[in-house]
Amino acid sequence: MADEDLYAALDRAAAAGTDQVIGWRQHLHRHPELSNRESETAALIARHLRSLGLDEVRTDIAGHGVVGVLRGGGRSGGGEGRVVALRADIDALPVRDLCGAEFASHVVDIDYPGGPFPVSHACGHDAHTAMLLGAATVLAEVRDRLAGTVLFVFQPAEEGPPVAEPGGARTMLAEGALDHPAPTMVFGLHVAPLPKGVLGYRVGNQFGASCLVRILITGMQVHGSTPWQGVDPMPAAGAVLTGIGQIYRQLSAFDPVTVSLGHVEDVGRFNIIGETVTLWGTIRCAEESDMGEAQKRLATLAEHSAAAYHCTAVVEYLQDVPAVHNAPAWVEAALPTFRRVVGEEKVVSTPATLGYDDVSEFVNRFGGLYVVLGVQDLAFDPDGTPVPTPGGRGAVFNHNPGFYVDDDTLATGVRLHAHVAADHLAGRLVTGN
Ligand SMILES: [Zn+2]
Ligand SMILES: [Zn+2]
Repeated sequence: MADEDLYAALDRAAAAGTDQVIGWRQHLHRHPELSNRESETAALIARHLRSLGLDEVRTDIAGHGVVGVLRGGGRSGGGEGRVVALRADIDALPVRDLCGAEFASHVVDIDYPGGPFPVSHACGHDAHTAMLLGAATVLAEVRDRLAGTVLFVFQPAEEGPPVAEPGGARTMLAEGALDHPAPTMVFGLHVAPLPKGVLGYRVGNQFGASCLVRILITGMQVHGSTPWQGVDPMPAAGAVLTGIGQIYRQLSAFDPVTVSLGHVEDVGRFNIIGETVTLWGTIRCAEESDMGEAQKRLATLAEHSAAAYHCTAVVEYLQDVPAVHNAPAWVEAALPTFRRVVGEEKVVSTPATLGYDDVSEFVNRFGGLYVVLGVQDLAFDPDGTPVPTPGGRGAVFNHNPGFYVDDDTLATGVRLHAHVAADHLAGRLVTGN
């Protein structure tokens, strides 16, 4: 069967390219770059895509974004045919690298706003980038047999650019990165603390809705010995920090919402009551429709807590990211492909998470889906809970300094991208329309 031939060709090419993919991943891991600073990463991507002879390699999109265009030879009538966009995010995090690998990062970004920061790929975007480069290699090899067009979308600033800068998926769209040709499906995957090679999917919201919170509380600066002559913003900040726990009780307990204020910035000193305290945080909602209400409640809490201490509060919500919605029809259409690639027993439905991913801008707009790929030394216990395998590195969550990705799973990611693309272009992985 022709399909089987094509699948076998994809798998052979993926296997042949595994060492190269591991090489890229380890190189990128050693040289991570923060959001909107991914210049060397983008240069490596563009260099490889050009070497494959793609039809177009577009660079400098939304900062350091790169889009490669591969037009298959099997298109009928000279049109684009179907267009599948495969997406990888490419940025790293301001997190120390304690993964223990020989290729661990020692990079420190001294110029980044708010820094200096240690930099590491604690979210695994090095693996995403390497897998998509591998998929581009594989698909370029079989281009004559592809009945449509593949877009390789390397997206910067998924983790959120500095607050004064635009960036990420929304900026790529605003710059027209996916206008010509527009995708008929978007696919991407995120590495996760699940057993190696397990593909986790969720019908509905795979990732939650998110926004960044900035609360500026202003009092009046005064000597620490005479607080009554000024206005101390510190107790107002404290009231907001303790009050956020009550916001959960004002929203339905059946749809998870979290409000976390992870960073407090003050301008005082041990003997100076400073003028301002700035609280930085994030709101996450499993259901996007709760976001407006959560924001309203937090603003009320902050403004009125501040007023109770004779301060003022200005509450801002920035970098809002919609939830990643996997429509049931897309999941249904993709399951046969997933099962073929990773094996029936390794395709599992996973619980909701309040992590976010701005791939939602692409998936929600063009259709398609986003899944997670297990990359750690874990196994499912009889209840389906991931537990550490003996002698392994255990479960370490994304954004943790010890986060790790097992290199053995990279080839599975390459195959997933390649098979999803081939099936969509051939009309086998499509929804009803
Ligand atoms: Zn992340
Ligand atoms: Zn991530």
